[in-house]
Amino acid sequence: MASDVQMETETFAFQAEINQLLSLIINTFYSNKEIFLRELISNSSDALDKIRFESLTDKSKLDAQPELFIRLVPDKANKTLSIIDSGVGMTKSDLVNNLGTIARSGTKEFMEALQAGADVSMIGQFGVGFYSAYLVADKVVVTTKHNDDEQYVWESQAGGSFTVTLDTEGERLGRGTKITLFLKDDQLEYLEERRLKDLVKKHSEFISYPIYLWTEKTTEKEISDDEDEDASEEKKEGEVEEVDDDKDKDESKKKTKKVKEVSHEWAQINKQKPIWLRKPEEISKEEYASFYKSITNDWEDHLAVKHFSVEGQLEFKAVLFVPRRAPFDLFDTRKKMNNIKLYVRRVFIMDNCEELIPEWLGFVKGVVDSDDLPLNISRETLQQNKILKVIRKNLVKKCIELFFEIAENKEDYAKFYEAFSKNLKLGVHEDSQNRAKLADLLRYHSTKSGDELTSLKDYVTRMKEGQKDIYYITGESRKAVENSPFLERLKKRGYEVLFMVDAIDEYAVGQLKEYDGKKLVSATKEGLKLDEETEEEKKRKEEKKAAFEGLCKIIKDILGDKVEKVVVSDRIVDSPCCLVTGEYGWTANMERIMKAQALRDSSMGAYMSSKKTMEINPENGIMEELRKRADADKNDKSVKDLVMLLFETALLTSGFSLDDPNTFAARIHRMLKLGLNIDDQDAEEEDADMPALEEEGAEESKMEEVD
Ligand code: ADP
Ligand code: MG
Repeated sequence: MASDVQMETETFAFQAEINQLLSLIINTFYSNKEIFLRELISNSSDALDKIRFESLTDKSKLDAQPELFIRLVPDKANKTLSIIDSGVGMTKSDLVNNLGTIARSGTKEFMEALQAGADVSMIGQFGVGFYSAYLVADKVVVTTKHNDDEQYVWESQAGGSFTVTLDTEGERLGRGTKITLFLKDDQLEYLEERRLKDLVKKHSEFISYPIYLWTEKTTEKEISDDEDEDASEEKKEGEVEEVDDDKDKDESKKKTKKVKEVSHEWAQINKQKPIWLRKPEEISKEEYASFYKSITNDWEDHLAVKHFSVEGQLEFKAVLFVPRRAPFDLFDTRKKMNNIKLYVRRVFIMDNCEELIPEWLGFVKGVVDSDDLPLNISRETLQQNKILKVIRKNLVKKCIELFFEIAENKEDYAKFYEAFSKNLKLGVHEDSQNRAKLADLLRYHSTKSGDELTSLKDYVTRMKEGQKDIYYITGESRKAVENSPFLERLKKRGYEVLFMVDAIDEYAVGQLKEYDGKKLVSATKEGLKLDEETEEEKKRKEEKKAAFEGLCKIIKDILGDKVEKVVVSDRIVDSPCCLVTGEYGWTANMERIMKAQALRDSSMGAYMSSKKTMEINPENGIMEELRKRADADKNDKSVKDLVMLLFETALLTSGFSLDDPNTFAARIHRMLKLGLNIDDQDAEEEDADMPALEEEGAEESKMEEVD
């Protein structure tokens, strides 16, 4: 049965999202349709890369078609444009999977981006470039031959389905793929040689395989008049054609006349010399931009470029680019990096060589061409390869140089930082060798930076006399940390505090530890010591501390395991209390981040997040009143309730989350009712399991204090 089925045409339904994408492509009004050609040529180039790489270890893979090329064939008579390559081709299952039944993650993301106003030309970045064929064609036919399978034809006019048929009759490809576009009637411009040449020059000039255009050449030839008479009446394609110009008419008495003879030939329309072999000073910004676009599918110019060669014991050339934005899937771990293309002596080897550049530089794009690596290198030997390690080290160094170059222009750096600050921070976290250097590239908002970002270097220049450490606070957002109680005393002293509000800051700063010989100190962790106090201040503080020791003990008894200890604070000025974490435990922000990571090790969580210290402010009215009440009656119930409320409120203002927000809300509601003098008997009963907030008769005075 299997062989019978093979001979027939099989129909497949497009996967739902792909189908949606197709109708979006077909129906969206969009004028820049020309990008389809770039996408199809880039697919051809990828396919050629694959077969060339395979042939490095097994020459016979090229037997069916030794030449590597891309050909464009416009056919005016049939209104078709074909893109033919001698690449790796597709097996039948490749055809079914890659062109219709398995959606990439980018399919949905691209549609969302489109709906959000993104440009269709971004399609290639989302890994669905093939479907751009339907911008200009209402029917697409893909004929393909892979070394491991027969020749097959894929065909679709969109509309929900495509067919795949074993191709026994069609022209033999040997190996490779031919994509034939049946152009829409208003898209016939893509049959014009001029247009195709310009397009290849614009978008695909740096494709490293020859791109040939099937061109029509007309030569003039003189023939005798008599001879011509019949021929001119029934013109056939590819035959002689009469020249209908004035000259001929004037000289119609002559015996001979000029005719045009049409012939065809392959004309190569892309330059071949790889850009990285040329001298940097001879390459224009536009050339770099168009090279960048050709290797990345980006529709925008690059932000910065570094073109260099390393000579000596080891020789290689490289061109590295920083894009203007982060791709949609920058930190998608499922996606293999393929941003640096590795060449060995001009031959493309691979574009997903993980050993070439560290993960945190995964956004840098470019090419590296080594003179020293063996051509038939395999993935396995790459991992051990010493030469590659040296190349990698050099690339990291050059990338960092490039970032410092970008930093010379404030506007560019702002753009760069917005897109890739997470990568830099990952670099700080992972690259111990370059950590100190990378720290100079970090920028933060701070209590003194206003809307600008500040570097650590600038922070240091603003440090107050006597200030030894660099202070920072971590949290969920700038808003959340800006008015944190932790900052009160630091602010009062005029010490600047950096706002670290990226999840990754927490990790990066944990590794960085210091800058320029100054310790980085978290404002929310235990052990924040602020010196430069007068003797008088010190004495007063000691007294206060002694006076509040009793209350600290009572609070600790009430809160039990919820806190590690309760101490008199050094850092808060206005708020009644705050919760700090141990110097080596997680900050509130880290606890939030870890809670968000579902798969974390829960035992680790319990250990790391348990160490909260409550710091109370002896200058605060609430604390003063609490102390009085506790002194008067150790078992005063209102003290217990207030302590619970203060603790829960402090959890929030210190950046933690509430494990049981309902209990907290119920407590607040009861407070509100007390404040509003609502005597709600039913509610009291409902909340029977709630601790009573207040003894009768004490309501009013209590509310005043809390206010
Ligand atoms: P991408 O190029 O990002 O993978 P496309 O939508 O452009 O996404 O192409 C989808 C897939 O179809 C490719 O990954 C490849 O497997 C296959 N393909 C497309 N064109 C060709 C071709 N000319 N030769 C071989 N395979 C191709
Ligand atoms: Mg593609």
